[in-house]
Amino acid sequence: MSPIVVIGSGLAGWTVVRELRKLTKEAPIVLICADAGDFYSKPMLSNALAQNKTAAQLVTTPAAKMAEQLGITLLPRTRVEAIDRERKRLITSAGEQSYSALVLALGADPIRLPLGGDAAEDVLSVNDLDDYARFRRAVAGIASKGRIAIIGAGLIGCEFANDLAVAGYAISVYDPTTYPLSSLLPEAAGRSLMAPLAAVGVDWHFGRSVRAVDHQGTAFQLSLDNGTTQLADLVLSAVGLRPRTALAKTAGLEVNRGIVTDAHLRTSDPAIYALGDCAETSGAVRPYVLPIMHSARALARTLMSDPTAVAFPAMPVVVKTPARPTAVAMAAKDAQGVWEIIESETGIKATFSDANGKLLGFALTGSHTDERMALAKLLVVA
Ligand code: FAD
Repeated sequence: MSPIVVIGSGLAGWTVVRELRKLTKEAPIVLICADAGDFYSKPMLSNALAQNKTAAQLVTTPAAKMAEQLGITLLPRTRVEAIDRERKRLITSAGEQSYSALVLALGADPIRLPLGGDAAEDVLSVNDLDDYARFRRAVAGIASKGRIAIIGAGLIGCEFANDLAVAGYAISVYDPTTYPLSSLLPEAAGRSLMAPLAAVGVDWHFGRSVRAVDHQGTAFQLSLDNGTTQLADLVLSAVGLRPRTALAKTAGLEVNRGIVTDAHLRTSDPAIYALGDCAETSGAVRPYVLPIMHSARALARTLMSDPTAVAFPAMPVVVKTPARPTAVAMAAKDAQGVWEIIESETGIKATFSDANGKLLGFALTGSHTDERMALAKLLVVA
């Protein structure tokens, strides 16, 4: 019998295998991944530098050990190039592989801005262990008080800014919006990150886009939309992630922002499932750790002939900016409501409620982050 095949060795891929093994010791499982397959915690990538961690030190369990412990066949450094849905076979860089059920856990690609300049290709982004190793080598190559430019003041940009500033680098952050985390937080909460991060060494440039990056001796020159230029020793792009959908799209699966699945994580092909950063489940992409854990548990049961819909509880996200602790639980995209904002010396508590006073989302900074579990219990989940 053909195995269950999982593509991807990120948190989504490995967690679904782990959950499957809790239910069956016998079912043959093959995991294919383009990377080395080592198990690591991706959220560590944006706060590992100040702790002086190497990429190897971020690996919690090496790939071969994961495969042995879980009793699966691992095909690392193997790229899946196409899915032949009719024959239930994958075309990979190492030959063909048949499947009985297929799980897509493909993750997301960092968005690359269309930058001009002769150094646009040297702008780094960090989305996996190989990227982190490259980034760390580049950081090691600049002086200890070197200048690092970060493009993007979203979650990943702010986390890197805090971490690198604490590590002693001079950080400049460029973003066309007007305050940090503007897609996650109401303005008062977002703005409350600015002074604490500035105090650890972050220089904010809001309302500014980077147009081009050029070599300037051993440094880089950033050309901004207002015609000015800035110098940096390293440029990091953190402008968001885009679900990896190309493989699914070419195979004729339904794709929207992510690979479309129902609540059973099933794609438009009943033998193919998707979860994690590549998936759009019940209308939303949820590119965070907790939704993956819930999805993996439900999917393992479904794959073992116990159809189980995933139910997502309230899942607040903690932003790793220790200079200004922040936690957020986003309301559904189309939710109607109003923000109530309580501002104190020690932080901000912003709650988003509907006309009946039901709590739909919140954003907390500073000391108010202590209230996140209590508030999460009150959240009405769509
Ligand atoms: P990935 O980990 O990206 O794995 C994708 C896998 O698919 C890889 O193994 C890749 O090689 C493989 N693959 C892709 N295409 C192919 C192909 N064609 N053939 C073979 N293999 C393929 N979330 C939180 O909840 N809290 C946080 O604090 C947090 N911090 C973060 C910090 C950073 C810097 C980043 C980047 C993300 C953070 N996240 C955080 C998000 C969270 O880490 C992700 O949601 C999660 O790790 C995604 O896991 P995944 O398995 O879906 O994707």
